[in-house]
Amino acid sequence: MEKLLEVNNLTKRYAQGNVLARISITAVDNVSFYVKPAEIFTLAGESGCGKTTTAKLVLGFEEATAGTMLHNGNTRSRREKTWLTKGVQAIFQDPFSTFNPLRTVDSYFHETVRNFRLARSKKDAIAHIDQKLRLVGLTYEDFAGKYPNEFSGGQLQRISIARALVTDPKLLIADEPVSMVDASLRMSIVNLFKRLRDELGVSILYITHDLATAYYVSDRIAIMFRGNIVEMGTVERVLMNPRHPYSQLLRDSIPQADPKKRWATKVTLAELEQEEYLRQGCKFAGRCPDVMDVCKSVVPTDIHIDDVFVKCHLYAEEKK
Ligand code: SF4
Repeated sequence: MEKLLEVNNLTKRYAQGNVLARISITAVDNVSFYVKPAEIFTLAGESGCGKTTTAKLVLGFEEATAGTMLHNGNTRSRREKTWLTKGVQAIFQDPFSTFNPLRTVDSYFHETVRNFRLARSKKDAIAHIDQKLRLVGLTYEDFAGKYPNEFSGGQLQRISIARALVTDPKLLIADEPVSMVDASLRMSIVNLFKRLRDELGVSILYITHDLATAYYVSDRIAIMFRGNIVEMGTVERVLMNPRHPYSQLLRDSIPQADPKKRWATKVTLAELEQEEYLRQGCKFAGRCPDVMDVCKSVVPTDIHIDDVFVKCHLYAEEKK
């Protein structure tokens, strides 16, 4: 099977506290996954689960404590500090912080065209940029000479997606790309991701806390909890028939009646974050309805059932 991005045993530890009371938090704990060509793979979980740290490690914005990453079968060379290359581009949560308010947005596009030598003349450059803008429903005339504050958040996020497409990347890493966009525009951006996958064969590593858009857009999904992937498989299997008790809690928290409500409202347990990160055994043991004695001392391993990986002692017997 061809893998565009392969992440193996990725680990990130941080020291917290002072000299007298220093603790080590494993924010990303032995995480492994892959993204296939023309696939949308989602890392989902509540705030503080480690998904954004994972994205930063993959992009090279932070250094991993351990683990390997392969893009097209190659590791990042020592010269490449980040993985923002021609083939890998990123889309971030806040489009307003992506662009300097004192610079016109088109200058970013021209800079990328120049840096990657994508056009021979200014006319060619404009044609190339216009083609990318049209993919997101805009044109060069719509934005030439304008500053970031002349656009709405939704338009600016579309512009940042077009900018990511300038180099014709095969992989986009999108960290919470719709969380600061109006609910009414959220689906149009998510639909755009589907079109990029289907029409251009672009793969997307989609990082989100929003299970509703994750269900709509993803081919496969991994649910993260306190630095671990606790369940991973096709989106139908994981979200329609979740096996891990934490995935079940998340799935049941998706609001059914009011689409404006956030599923995360039921799971506001940030104060437990540090305690759960430091917990021995299964990190979900403190609030799992199915907890057993073994869960409090033994870390569950990945169990493979029906093409889904589940990190839970409940399924250890099924595997035997
Ligand atoms: Fe619950 Fe135990 Fe499974 Fe953890 S390993 S999710 S505590 S049953």
